[in-house]
Amino acid sequence: MPHPCLSCGACCAHFRVSLHWSEAEPKLGGRVPIALTETFGPHQRSMRGTWAKQPHCIALEGVVGEGVRCTIYDARPNACRDLRMSWEPLSSQPMSGEGGGPNPQCDQARAAYGLPPLTRDEVERALAESATG
Ligand code: SF4
Ligand code: SF4
Repeated sequence: MPHPCLSCGACCAHFRVSLHWSEAEPKLGGRVPIALTETFGPHQRSMRGTWAKQPHCIALEGVVGEGVRCTIYDARPNACRDLRMSWEPLSSQPMSGEGGGPNPQCDQARAAYGLPPLTRDEVERALAESATG
């Protein structure tokens, strides 16, 4: 079973994604491609497309709920890194059993696309399978 986010992408097409301007400033170590962002207030930028009535991040490729990919995954904003899928373990050791629980943001975004909340079982299974290759 692939990582659940790879067949979802709902949060990338549901919320406005904002970032501090320095995240898109290479001189300050920022890695988010500035061309994919737009100004949002004095100190913030946002990912293009996420201000729309029906948000859809410009960096999201694929079809929500079927198969998606973030085209700037390694350089994505902190807000994207911070959004945990429901039941994602809190520790970097996938199966440490530490933490994890429903995340209302994940559940809400999925619900907007008719996708059910992730269950603990399916997340544990998917992470275990991806850990063993
Ligand atoms: S809504 Fe949840 S499962 Fe879907 S891509 Fe975002 S974090 Fe992953
Ligand atoms: S930058 Fe990537 S992870 Fe963040 S909202 Fe856009 S597609 Fe999703």
